[in-house]
Amino acid sequence: MTKTTEFKTPTGASFFMNHKPLARTLDTTNFIDNEFVASSAVDWIDLHDPATNNLVTRVPQSTDEELHAAVESAKRAFPTWRATSIMAKQRIMFTFGNLIRANWDRLAASITLEQGKTFKDAKGDVLRGLQVAETACGITTQLTGEVLEVAKDMETKSIREPLGVVAAICPFNFPAMIPLWCIPIATVTGNCLILKPSERDPGAAMILAELAREAGFPKGVLNIIHGAAPTVDFILDDPAIQAISFVGSNRAGEYIYTRGSANGKRVQANLGAKNHALLLPDADKDSALNAIVGAAFGAAGQRCMALSVLVMVGETKSWLPELIERAKGLVVSGGFEKDADVGPIISPQSKARIESIIASAEQEGASILLDGRGFKPEKYPNGNFVGPTVISNVTTEMKCYKEEIFGPVLVCLSVDTLDEGIRLTNANDYGNGTAIFTRSGSAALYFQKNIEAGQVGINVPIPVPLPMFSFTGNKKSIAGGGANTFYGKPGLAFYTQQKTVTSLWRSDSIDTGKQVVMPSHL
Ligand code: NAD
Repeated sequence: MTKTTEFKTPTGASFFMNHKPLARTLDTTNFIDNEFVASSAVDWIDLHDPATNNLVTRVPQSTDEELHAAVESAKRAFPTWRATSIMAKQRIMFTFGNLIRANWDRLAASITLEQGKTFKDAKGDVLRGLQVAETACGITTQLTGEVLEVAKDMETKSIREPLGVVAAICPFNFPAMIPLWCIPIATVTGNCLILKPSERDPGAAMILAELAREAGFPKGVLNIIHGAAPTVDFILDDPAIQAISFVGSNRAGEYIYTRGSANGKRVQANLGAKNHALLLPDADKDSALNAIVGAAFGAAGQRCMALSVLVMVGETKSWLPELIERAKGLVVSGGFEKDADVGPIISPQSKARIESIIASAEQEGASILLDGRGFKPEKYPNGNFVGPTVISNVTTEMKCYKEEIFGPVLVCLSVDTLDEGIRLTNANDYGNGTAIFTRSGSAALYFQKNIEAGQVGINVPIPVPLPMFSFTGNKKSIAGGGANTFYGKPGLAFYTQQKTVTSLWRSDSIDTGKQVVMPSHL
């Protein structure tokens, strides 16, 4: 791939692997009935390249008619899609996965352009989504039910049926992976999906729609609509939509969970995080520090599984200068630059918020040991950059500890013992991910048993499970107490309704007389 490699959006606009202003920007369209349809929106959301703030596209606040058209399309498609054989669905999913792989660079380039993360990291974003699509190809063995002869000539079988029309509402930080947490599983189980990408970077989702059509998804099985809160409210209230998948902040997610559930919909909602890393004195120092730096500052800290809190146990607080040296070694630049380790923040507003939280730490008495505020890469003076920032002497009352910062900022606290570190971590409201760095198997096991986070890494900084498992957040990081979790077996259960059928085919004809008591199957 060179900087001049040209890619096309589904509607024919060119984009390149660089941050130059586009020769022609095209408005983002809706995707309804397998067509890219121009929106007649009145309100539009400008989308800028975070590395330069050049305009990339305009995203519509889709009109009510367009939102209704998407639902009608999905409703029309459902009976035939539901009746389509599982082998046919599996074949489409194989082709979809192959097309994603063939368009890997194109998808990643769209992510770097709109979201800002480095091209290498954007490829990881696509890959983690592709793995869900590839795992969904195993649907022919994953969806089998159970059957048992429960009495003479009588058997009960359990089957899983699709829900109907379902919806997904996505965040900005993984523009391919999170749509792909939903598209493959929702559709291969026989549902028709209406997807709302983040209004801040819908490009990858639009390419996925093009690939879905090419793979053979019939009209209406996947529709894409756009917008901000009004589109979400439409999804929450439309009676045809049976279930909603949401990934994003607590502010939006708690509202969506409450209103969606009150409207009788099934909701799975993954929310915010404040992930703690415990560093033990017996850890392999070199690899632990590298892992922590990568997980704190990679993707500019805009990952729900970023390690944003470092809990230094005992003497490991003396390792902080070495950690800072490694953080200083990261190259902060436009995501298409070959040597870039850390790209920009999504928007000027998010950058300002991150910088104000760093300032609050200073005001509350913490020490800013490495300050990324005001950082401007020479080639990208207009981008939304914040350099890696390390804050020490942090206490649990400080704003920088309590709030999810969602930027390249690591807040550091010291404790004397592992138990103290576990208590501190468990007292935090969030429970998405956590990691321990140690060479001691018994310390690791003790941590695993006593920690309250949903995803636990042992010498693994970002323990996001592969799709044969499920994304298992905990506490405030997941709505509804974590009853519904994305992908894996729970993901299949989320997108299907269980039905049990009990049948009797008598092998002899017996006069059973009146049967007015509760059948006992004896
Ligand atoms: P966000 O909540 O701002 O936006 C997510 C979606 O909700 C978008 O589609 C947006 O249009 C919609 N939305 C935003 N505000 C709304 C409102 N007031 N009413 C209705 N809808 C609204 O989140 P974001 O900034 O795009 O993403 C970052 C957040 O997502 C972080 O908190 C991060 O931790 C979280 N996240 C969590 C996971 C996870 O699996 N736990 C994964 C990725 C991101």
